[in-house]
Amino acid sequence: MGQAINSLQRVLSLEIEQGYQDKAVVGGIRQFTVFWVSKAREQAVDEADKALVEQVAETLMSYSRLPGVEARAETIELLKEKLEKREVRLETPAPVITPMPQRSQPATKIPVKEVSQPVVSPAIQLDADKADPEGLKQPVTTLRGVGQKTAEQLANTGAETILDLLYVFPRRYDDYTLLKPIGKLLFGETVTVIGTVWETRLQIRKGLKLVQSVVSDGTGNIDVTWFNQPWLVDKITAGTQIVLSGKVDQFLGRPVFQNPDWEPLEMEPLRTRRIVPIYPLTKGLTAHRMREIMKQVSDVWAPHLPEPLPEPVRSRRNLYKLPFAVRQAHFPESQESMHKARRRLIFDELFFLQLGMLGLRHDWQGVPGISVSTDLESLKQFVRTLPFQLTDAQKRVIREIATDIAEPRPMNRLLQGDVGSGKTVVAAAAIVLVVRAGFQAALMAPTEILAEQHFGSLGQMLGELGIDVQLLTGSTSAAEKKRLYAGLTDGSIQFVIGTHALIQEGVRFKELGLVVIDEQHRFGVDQRKTLREKGIASPDGTKQANPHLLVMSATPIPRTLALSLYGDLDISVVDEMPPGRLEIKTNWLRPGERQRAYSFVESQVKAGRQAFVICPLVEESENIEAKAAVEEYKRLQEHIFPKLKMGLIHGRLKSDEKEAVMRAFYEGKTDILVATSVIEVGIDVPNSTVMLIEGANRFGLAQLHQFRGRVGRGEHQSYCLLLADEVSGDAEDRLSAMEMTNDGFILAEKDLEIRGPGEFFGRRQSGLPELRMASLMDLEMLKIARQEAHAIFELDPDFAKPEHLLLRKKMLEFWRDPGDVS
Ligand code: ADP
Ligand code: MG
Repeated sequence: MGQAINSLQRVLSLEIEQGYQDKAVVGGIRQFTVFWVSKAREQAVDEADKALVEQVAETLMSYSRLPGVEARAETIELLKEKLEKREVRLETPAPVITPMPQRSQPATKIPVKEVSQPVVSPAIQLDADKADPEGLKQPVTTLRGVGQKTAEQLANTGAETILDLLYVFPRRYDDYTLLKPIGKLLFGETVTVIGTVWETRLQIRKGLKLVQSVVSDGTGNIDVTWFNQPWLVDKITAGTQIVLSGKVDQFLGRPVFQNPDWEPLEMEPLRTRRIVPIYPLTKGLTAHRMREIMKQVSDVWAPHLPEPLPEPVRSRRNLYKLPFAVRQAHFPESQESMHKARRRLIFDELFFLQLGMLGLRHDWQGVPGISVSTDLESLKQFVRTLPFQLTDAQKRVIREIATDIAEPRPMNRLLQGDVGSGKTVVAAAAIVLVVRAGFQAALMAPTEILAEQHFGSLGQMLGELGIDVQLLTGSTSAAEKKRLYAGLTDGSIQFVIGTHALIQEGVRFKELGLVVIDEQHRFGVDQRKTLREKGIASPDGTKQANPHLLVMSATPIPRTLALSLYGDLDISVVDEMPPGRLEIKTNWLRPGERQRAYSFVESQVKAGRQAFVICPLVEESENIEAKAAVEEYKRLQEHIFPKLKMGLIHGRLKSDEKEAVMRAFYEGKTDILVATSVIEVGIDVPNSTVMLIEGANRFGLAQLHQFRGRVGRGEHQSYCLLLADEVSGDAEDRLSAMEMTNDGFILAEKDLEIRGPGEFFGRRQSGLPELRMASLMDLEMLKIARQEAHAIFELDPDFAKPEHLLLRKKMLEFWRDPGDVS
């Protein structure tokens, strides 16, 4: 083993000379070790030698992970001592034992193929001045070996350019850095072994093609089986020096490998003996091909990523440089560097998210607002007309809003409250104040049904105070629209309720003082912005004042999360239900109990009440969903409730059809309303007492809670019946949570726990950038990102400083397309 020892000693000396930089050999000490161990094992002359080789392996495989120069120096010192001891020991010669496999020993020794030094890409300099935003914008076909076909397959990941591809990160990693001799393998371990193939056979058993090899490394041998990859028999030939990584299995008490990852020893490690990235499955591309492409793109192109973060932020927060972070996130050198790389990328997402929010707020409040003094008389008058007493929570929030709008700065407030907590009255109070002060107000709802409902209830509430209310939706006739546009422009219309129709081009207000947006989660940031921008314009068209903004949401969000998601808004919470509400009784029924559910619905209808039946969610398309709803409606009408009057509502109906159906239900002309998720938000029919949800397992918790909120709005005891067709672990958690509580905030926490925030908020809908790595539950990072975003913003809100130019660019791109830095 003298030769191996010598080469190791040379490398160690070089490493000491170079100050423990892990640069003594190309590719680093670890790559060298992998190679060295395979040689040394062959050369080991006795048990003590074998033990020494394993000790070296164990020590040096983690060398790059050692925290500092001192730890590295100490490690090398200890190793050198051990190597010297060996020399002393061997002065008394020991019997020579040639390593032999214990089983399946071939008659003749197999020639060992020549193994060259592993090909390792040269260490890449990661300098900021290599930034090449133009180069990164090139299509993926620029990459070596990537043609049109592969480009099409890569497009499935959403990647068209090199830059896009750099931001397609592994789903997870397999850590194959534990290198072990075959003789020491333990069942269940995930390891890497290096050895020589003794023989390989193709067998067919029960129609299954098995490739079976025996691999030996001098400490033992192991049977390896690959299933259904018959071509391997020509690749894993006797004599090949091979690296196997995978989980150790057992057969008749002996360790074996089944379908391990493998590659020839002379290849650059890509799928064995390292932390191997596992990418999202991409149609048409094998996992390995994907890995090869990613290796190329991260080696060649990550170094050209521009660094958007100012140096002080990076050093203060101890963050990797972007090029390095991206490379390490793809092909990490160690667990530690992987975590640190991900940390940097998570920071970026949260930081740019916050920066964007602050930007929105800044743009918004940069323009003056109008000061609406609190007209107590009008408020009192309004409260007197209500058929009920305001709850303390409602009073408190009305006060918060009144204070806000009295400032000459535009209000920017999120009003949160569980379904049925009475947010509409709060908004009405704000509208009264603004209109009485002589300004206009607008309320935007996500659906026509909801807009109409608000028109009905607010129209009545405000009508009593002599405030005129108008309705503008997609189905408003052209002539009526013309009249409304004119009224809004000349200021004769004081208050308008509507849908997206409100943000159309033609809509101009004379003096818009307040914008209310209901069910905020249904609108994107952009729509919010467009409506806000319809503020008060001076005659020459320049903006003079922004209206106050109140957005309402029935999706309760834990406060910390709300801060980051709606970082541009202040938050008020109606955290109290109007008194006298009966708790909605919720029951999760087994499929066998469906008949009971129907009988219950029927008995409620007989008692004069009404019921909703929600059809299962169909993800594919609204068309298919509508079709399924039609069928369910027919089935129920013909076979289950032939004597009851039923209505049907789904997303494919025209708005006047929807309206007719809803109206019939409001007016009690139908007993049962079969619906898809279109009725998720806002509808208020106090006489309805049963919410029967089919396929309840397919809906999210927030959505289920919203459905349930459609009942229990009147004086009668209400019920929510959940029918699940198939129940997985998560669905079970959701359904039990629904049974357990009526409290939306508790359910929200629970939902976050079960699903994670991504789906919970439906970020795609919300208009916020999609987060790929970060989780909004990552409160610690969120805090840091917020602090840094604030710091930058306070210093340089317009990103005018040269060191912030790139920051601004990246922030804008992130809000358009995360990951895009160009
Ligand atoms: P949400 O917060 O879900 O939008 P709404 O504003 O639609 O709730 O109110 C739900 C129902 O509760 C409405 O019928 C409303 O008239 C009623 N309501 C609101 N506030 C009170 C109150 N303080 N006391 C009694 N009923 C109330
Ligand atoms: Mg509401």
